[in-house]
Amino acid sequence: MTNPITSGAQYIESLRGRNLRVFFMGERVGEPVEHPVIRPSINAVARTYDLANEDPELATAHSSLIGRRVNRFLHVTESALDVVMQNRMQRRLGQLTGTCFQRCVGMDAFNALYAVTFDLDARHGTTYHPRLKSFLGSCQEQNLVVGGAMTDPKGDRSRGPSAQDDPGLFTRVVERRADGVVIRGAKAHQTGCVNSHWIVVMPTLRLQEADRDYAIVAAIPVSDPGLTFIYGRQSCDTRALEGSEVDQGNAKYAGQEALIVIDDVFVPWERVFMDGEVEFAAPLVDAFTTYHRRSYVCKTGVGDVLIGAAATVAEMNGVSKASHVRDKLVEMAHLNETIYGAGIAASHESRRTRAGNFINDDVLANVCKHNVTRFPFEMARLAQDLAGGLVATLPSAKDFASEVTGPVLRRLLRGRSPGDAEARARMLRLIENMTMGRNAVGYLTESLHGAGSPQAQRIQIERAMKLEEKKNLAKTLAGVNE
Ligand SMILES: Cc1cc2nc3c(=O)[nH]c(=O)nc-3n(C[C@H](O)[C@H](O)[C@H](O)COP(=O)(O)OP(=O)(O)OC[C@H]3O[C@@H](n4cnc5c(N)ncnc54)[C@H](O)[C@@H]3O)c2cc1C
Ligand code: SF4
Repeated sequence: MTNPITSGAQYIESLRGRNLRVFFMGERVGEPVEHPVIRPSINAVARTYDLANEDPELATAHSSLIGRRVNRFLHVTESALDVVMQNRMQRRLGQLTGTCFQRCVGMDAFNALYAVTFDLDARHGTTYHPRLKSFLGSCQEQNLVVGGAMTDPKGDRSRGPSAQDDPGLFTRVVERRADGVVIRGAKAHQTGCVNSHWIVVMPTLRLQEADRDYAIVAAIPVSDPGLTFIYGRQSCDTRALEGSEVDQGNAKYAGQEALIVIDDVFVPWERVFMDGEVEFAAPLVDAFTTYHRRSYVCKTGVGDVLIGAAATVAEMNGVSKASHVRDKLVEMAHLNETIYGAGIAASHESRRTRAGNFINDDVLANVCKHNVTRFPFEMARLAQDLAGGLVATLPSAKDFASEVTGPVLRRLLRGRSPGDAEARARMLRLIENMTMGRNAVGYLTESLHGAGSPQAQRIQIERAMKLEEKKNLAKTLAGVNE
């Protein structure tokens, strides 16, 4: 066993020299750690390690599994407070990075699998739960990053996995051997996968008997030669190649998504946590999305940054005292706290699973995520309103640096105070970054689709809304007897 990772810097070192098959813009990436477009996403994950050192109460927890404190992203919840603390940590990391810090998918996958493999073993007499505990214990010991790979490319959305023209549109088992399984397929939109040490593949939807080979959950090392990562583009990502920090808006931190192609990867049985038990795919998806939909309070930390940026620009523009400006900031804060309110309430309402870990309330988590599919868009609109048109028409940092245009820009693009043009430009670029640029992927589109598109939450809310009970309440008070 290698030494555990104890800092962000050590984490970054742990990613070097893995010879991953990563492609970006048609070319294989030599060393992702050194790639200017990829590096900010690595910095965001590194921040999770540093926070654990700076604030261990917030970002670590005592694990009964290995008998000592571990990074909270690897912790199996042992109380309702543990679930609440995940949310507090997520908000803080959103504030510190202004982006997606990528580790929550794995955290939520572990916790969902902890509960579901226990139930699965109880039904089938299998040994998935002890295998998972052993795998998780080793990840905790070494303090590793684990990505959660649920979403398949899915092809024709009106058909299930085994009814597709191309069976490769969902990840499946193509061979079962005495010592393990061979897996083929792909996973789409995978957050932080290149920055992980392991990925855990899971089915993405409820499955039928004919889909048996698709009911696979397994842990694969990211360095497996059968994996190819095709890096997703983010709006304005190549600004990182231009050499200007200012034009990037948030040069240090970014999210990461890639398409993973899984080409006949062998997984030994000790890392297989479901194989063929189709009836447990739906409970797993439900448990995962229950956890993950309230993990989206991460966006409230990012929202805090956006509110701060909007308020700062308003101040620079000399309008901070105007009543409509103050009211717009209040509206942003109201939207942000409404997201947080539902998420943290879901966590406070946690219950113990049969396996012994704690899971948050399902309906409140869906309400949280459903708010996330809308409110950041309105907050982005308000931030752009307060920023003024310059957020979209600002000349580049190179124009500021130019002897010809620089003095003109510094004179004409100042706000309330002489000499504030460059600070103002930085703040505008940050708002651009979060509402139109690289980190809008995390703040807006991920808010919409991550953990399921809006309709997925509406379906869950409809299932759980107890309409008959509500109708009976109304009938009782109205004196309607049927
Ligand atoms: C930035 C980002 C990060 C992500 N990170 C991860 C990750 O780390 N791990 C992971 O596993 N996944 C991840 N996802 C994937 C995410 O969970 C999916 O994007 C989401 O589930 C929607 O799936 P889709 O993108 O295939 O869209 P689709 O499912 O195609 O949805 C598009 C539209 O079609 C509708 N639709 C889809 N199917 C049907 C149907 N059968 N009937 C009627 N309407 C339908 C939807 O409601 C939606 O309106 C991420 C996504 C994003 C954008
Ligand atoms: S979108 Fe939020 S919850 Fe999901 S991994 Fe990123 S930071 Fe975590």
